[in-house]
Amino acid sequence: MDNTQNILIVGAGLCGSLLALRLGQRGYNVSVYEMRPDLRKVDISAGRSINLAFSDRGIKAMKLVDIQDKVEPLCIPMNGRMIHDKEGKTKLSNYSGRDHEYINSISRGGLNALLLDEAEVLDNVSLFFNKKCESIDFEKTTASFYDYKEKTEFIEDADVIIGTDGAGSALRKSYYLGKKFLFSFSQDYLSHGYKELSILPTEGGGYKTYKNALHIWPRGDFMLIALPNLDGSFTVTLFLSHDEGDYNFNNLTTPEIVTTFFTEEFPDALELMPNLIEDFFDNPTSALGTVKCSPWHYKGNTLLMGDAAHAIVPFYGQGMNASFEDVVEFDKVLDQHEGDWETVFRFYEKTRKKDTDAIADLAIDNFHEMKDHVANPIFQKKRKLEMTLEKEFPDDYSSKYSLVTFNEDIGYNEAMTRGRAQDKAILNMIADGKINLNEDLKNILKKVIQETEDIIDEDNVAKTMHH
Ligand SMILES: Cc1cc2nc3c(=O)[nH]c(=O)nc-3n(C[C@H](O)[C@H](O)[C@H](O)COP(=O)(O)OP(=O)(O)OC[C@H]3O[C@@H](n4cnc5c(N)ncnc54)[C@H](O)[C@@H]3O)c2cc1C
Repeated sequence: MDNTQNILIVGAGLCGSLLALRLGQRGYNVSVYEMRPDLRKVDISAGRSINLAFSDRGIKAMKLVDIQDKVEPLCIPMNGRMIHDKEGKTKLSNYSGRDHEYINSISRGGLNALLLDEAEVLDNVSLFFNKKCESIDFEKTTASFYDYKEKTEFIEDADVIIGTDGAGSALRKSYYLGKKFLFSFSQDYLSHGYKELSILPTEGGGYKTYKNALHIWPRGDFMLIALPNLDGSFTVTLFLSHDEGDYNFNNLTTPEIVTTFFTEEFPDALELMPNLIEDFFDNPTSALGTVKCSPWHYKGNTLLMGDAAHAIVPFYGQGMNASFEDVVEFDKVLDQHEGDWETVFRFYEKTRKKDTDAIADLAIDNFHEMKDHVANPIFQKKRKLEMTLEKEFPDDYSSKYSLVTFNEDIGYNEAMTRGRAQDKAILNMIADGKINLNEDLKNILKKVIQETEDIIDEDNVAKTMHH
C-alpha cells in the first residue's frame, strides 16, 4: 500500500488533531494548517466552550490511537444531572442505572493539546500554526493560506485535502461558492444563544458545589448548566433566547437587570458566582446552530469531517464525540478500501451521514428535554423507571440516553430509532395507566419491549408506504 501520499488537513481542533494522529500512525505524510496560534504556547481560552462532556464514542476513538490512559487523568466523572429548582433544592438523577456508565467533563484545551503532542511526535506529521485557509481549489487539490505572522499568502498542493475546520469551514464554503457540482447545504440557527460564566474554586482550591455531576437549572424557556474543571472551578453556560421572553440576551444590558434575573431564577447559583457581572459583560454571547450538507467530498480530492461536515447544537454533549467517531469510522473504511480515495470518501459518507443526521436531530430534542422536561413529573417518572430497569436488567434494557451515550457500537441512527420508540412506549403506557409502577418489574420490561417493537414495526410500515 502506498501511504507516502501527502495529506493536508485544514484545522487542528479536536477532529483535525485526532485525524492527523491516526493518519500519521497509518504512515501517511500529514501536514496540518491551523489558523490560530499553537494553544499549547499561547492562552487562547477565549475560544468556544472551555470544557465538554466526553463519553464512550469519544473514548473509543482514544482507544483507536492508543492514548486512553493519557486522557483519563483529564477526565472528571459526572454520574448524573444535578437538577436545581428555583428554591435552590437539588436532586441528582443518574445518567444510567448501570454504575459503570457515566459521562466526563474534560478541558477542550487540555485534550486538544494532548492530541497535538501525540501527533507531533510522529516524524511524518507536521503542524503549522497562524495559517488561515482562505479557499480550496477542490479540482486542483490545492489550498490558499494567509500567514498571520509573515503577512503573506501562499498555496499548498496535496494528494488529498481534508477540511476539519469547524462549523465555519473554508472547504465547505469553497464547495458552496464554487458551483461546480450539486452541493446541498443547510444552516439552522436556534432561537437561543449561549454565554459562558464561571463558578470559581473555594479559597482552598475546592469545589463550591457537588463535583461529580452536570448541574442543570432548567427553567422551561431557558437554562443554566455547569460542568466541573480540574482546578476546582465550574464552567457555567447560560442558554437563553436572543430576543424572546421577559429576559433575553438583547435586554440583559445592565448589571442591575442581570442581577435581578439571576436573583429571580438562579438564586443558589448566584450565591456561588460573585464574579457574575464581570463574566457576563466580558464574555461574548454566541449563536448555536445545526449545519447539514452533502456531498462531503469532491471526487477523491477533498473531504469534510467533524463540525465542518455536521455542526450540531450542544445539548446531547455529542458534537466532539461524533467528530471523534468520524475518525473511527473513516479508519474502518480505510481498512477496506485504502488506495482508492474516491471509494473511501464515498463509502465513508454513505455509512456515516445517516448517523450524523440522527445526532443532529437528537441534539435538538434534548434542547427541549433539558430546559423543560427534566423538571416535568411524567418525565421524571419515566426516568426513574428506566433507571430501575437498567439496574435490574443491565443486559436487557438501555434508555435512549444510554443508547446514544454509552453504546458506542450502535450507530446514532439506530440509537435514535430505538430510543424514540421506547420513549413513546413508556410515556404512552404511563399516561394510559397501562403500566403500574408497583407491578412486577419483569412484567413492565416485557410490556415496554413489546410496545417498543410494535411502534418500530408501525413506523417501518409507514415508511414503506411512504416510499
Ligand atoms: C457551547 C458548546 C458546548 C459544547 N459542548 C459539547 C460537549 O459537551 N460534548 C461534545 O461532545 N461536544 C460539545 N460541543 C461540540 C464540539 O465543540 C464540537 O463538535 C467540536 O469542537 C468539533 O471539533 P472540530 O475539530 O470538528 O471543530 P473545532 O473544534 O471547531 O476545530 C476547528 C479548528 O479549525 C480551525 N479553523 C477554522 N477555520 C480555519 C481556517 N479557515 N483555516 C485554518 N484553520 C481553521 C479552528 O481554529 C479550530 O482550531 C460543544 C459546542 C459548543 C459550541
